[in-house]
Amino acid sequence: MSDIIEKLIQKNPGESEFHQAAEEVIKTVQPVIDANPKYHEERILERVLEPERLISFKVEWTDDRGRVHINKGFRVEMNSALGPYKGGLRFHPSVNQSILKFLGFEQVFKNALTTLPLGGGKGGSDFDPKGRSDREVMSFCQAFMSELFRHIGAFTDVPAGDIGVGGREIGYLFGTYKKIKNEFTGVLTGKGLGWGGSVLRPEATGYGLIYFANNMVKANGDSLEGKTCIVSGSGNVALYAIEKLNSLGAKVISASDSSGYIYDEAGIDSDKLAYLMELKFAKRGRISEYAEKYSEANYFAVDRSMDHNPLWKLKADCAFPCATQNEINDIDAQNLVNNGVKIVGEGANMPTSLGGIDIIQKSGALFAPAKASNAGGVATSGFEMTQNRMGLYWKKEEVDARLQEVMKSIHDTSLQVAEKYGKPGDYVSGSNMAAFEKVAEAMVSQGVN
Ligand code: NDP
Repeated sequence: MSDIIEKLIQKNPGESEFHQAAEEVIKTVQPVIDANPKYHEERILERVLEPERLISFKVEWTDDRGRVHINKGFRVEMNSALGPYKGGLRFHPSVNQSILKFLGFEQVFKNALTTLPLGGGKGGSDFDPKGRSDREVMSFCQAFMSELFRHIGAFTDVPAGDIGVGGREIGYLFGTYKKIKNEFTGVLTGKGLGWGGSVLRPEATGYGLIYFANNMVKANGDSLEGKTCIVSGSGNVALYAIEKLNSLGAKVISASDSSGYIYDEAGIDSDKLAYLMELKFAKRGRISEYAEKYSEANYFAVDRSMDHNPLWKLKADCAFPCATQNEINDIDAQNLVNNGVKIVGEGANMPTSLGGIDIIQKSGALFAPAKASNAGGVATSGFEMTQNRMGLYWKKEEVDARLQEVMKSIHDTSLQVAEKYGKPGDYVSGSNMAAFEKVAEAMVSQGVN
């Protein structure tokens, strides 16, 4: 295994996020490879680590004052053994090849866990929508799609949203694709409700995360009711996770953005959450404004030069990181454990360092890994694709029931596979092994090509 990691680092120099995501999988799937020698003979692990296609392009656009901007655009088509490439687009200044390869790689396994016919991919740009007018965002999206359209399609590669790409951006991207191709197809998911979108798609990742956590606590004879929770982020995943936690009787005491976090000891109840949704989704405001509105809450700016994030020092039963990768480092994980955290559920992709996962798991706390626990978003994107192909809309109750069923199935499969391979209760190993086995079987059947 260590030689595969070494070669990966040599072949992909400087791509630390990709190395980290790959290492977690490489280190956990050995029992499956040992049990299936053909995976070793056919070098499935090495093959799954190499993107099938890596597209990189230039995006030129003009802002409201007529100034010209140049951004980088990417699409990583990682693996199509199980279906068309599927995975979000991220617009954030930090976006680079390493981040998109890590996200694309994780997506392959996450999509496999949903049991839907979806391959894995990811894309995006170093464009920052923050502070841009709607017109500027539209101009960028049009320029971005004027190249991306060549590589995607309803049966080829179906992007969705991610950080910085929500309903507004999907609308502009879809409009441009439709115009260039002269066709109205389900080429993107996360579309508006009146024009091909699925009900509950915006809520699905956050709700799915909490459904997963609920399954996890139930399997341990407990419940989320009355639990105090730390949530990070204040975007799509975070806010709907808070909504579902509230509905299950938990109390959420924090939310954050890239500038800092708020601590509200009384809890972010449904009225405060409605304010937060309006603030973040409609007004595109900052989390600090929450503490201006509610005097019982405090705002703390986060100093990124610190070796830890004080958000994770709040005392709570549960922690749900829902902002971005590597937001919980080893020190943060230790702080959570020192404060007696019992459940950590990843809403963001790879929010916890490898050392951090180890610390949390060794403490005996339940740990839900992103590939399993945040798969509700892509599962509902899969439902959106199905509805588009059938030419009809499912009702909210139907989508919610399917989402709950998928999250339960991912939970149960991860647990069963972990048990089967001698890792009882280890959701990280269980989900990696279950997903790897599924992708590997398809790759073996489809031959070397
Ligand atoms: P949004 O853009 O809606 O929200 C992202 C949130 O995270 C914002 O509060 C943002 O703050 C904060 N954030 C972003 N970058 C950083 C950073 N470097 N440091 C601290 N905070 C940061 O994105 P989503 O909610 O959609 O995505 C959040 C996470 O969930 C990502 O890891 C994404 O890959 C993952 N995910 C999303 C899915 C989806 O369906 N949307 C599906 C599965 C996973 P600010 O506004 O200041 O940037």
